[in-house]
Amino acid sequence: MLLPEKFLTCVRCEDGLKREEGQTPVPGEGIPNAEVMLIGESPGTEEMKNARPFVGKAGENLNGFLESVGLNRNNMYVVNTTRCRPYKVTEKILKNGNKRITKSNKPPSQHAIRSCATWLDMEIDLVNPTLIVTLGSTPLKRLIPEYSISKVHGTLLTVPIQHAGVKEESREFTLSEREFYIFPLYHPAAIIYRHELQEVFEEDLKRLRQAIEKLQLNSVLM
Ligand code: SF4
Repeated sequence: MLLPEKFLTCVRCEDGLKREEGQTPVPGEGIPNAEVMLIGESPGTEEMKNARPFVGKAGENLNGFLESVGLNRNNMYVVNTTRCRPYKVTEKILKNGNKRITKSNKPPSQHAIRSCATWLDMEIDLVNPTLIVTLGSTPLKRLIPEYSISKVHGTLLTVPIQHAGVKEESREFTLSEREFYIFPLYHPAAIIYRHELQEVFEEDLKRLRQAIEKLQLNSVLM
């Protein structure tokens, strides 16, 4: 883990306070000086159980999509925008009078995104990737809020990113001094619910491969 040990006990936001007993926030995972960093949204149940990003079904999906265009996740650094599962609890009274409690995923709140920003920025600083691939709207908006996924998916951007600094109390975002290559993709999970995005997503993946070749980030090519 690249982050300091205190990360594992972080309760800066409501999602940390709702962690199940024995669970920790999910750190990023991968090559410490990877040329390519993938940033997703938030961990789900499987990720929390394993304390690893993009495992289980979500991980299989991601790996499959990357492999379909000859990209190797193992040589990348994979991380989420926030590190504890955001979920809502619903209670339903069954016919027999018993109560059924369901926990379902929800997008992270702005407060969680802001509270978690210093962890993500610490990892971006440490890994110092040449290319950042954002998966879905949440990481894109976190890094470059003025951009919309529906307009810039599948294109290679060269821009400074919002940076919260590494101080815990840091709440104000500033723009990074350096520019990053950013390649926005839809979130792989969105393809499951929005079939109309399947073709778009596959085309974007091919463009990602072309961008990686153009930037000569050969470590992630299979
Ligand atoms: S989501 Fe991030 S800021 Fe919130 S408790 Fe978890 S690690 Fe801390």
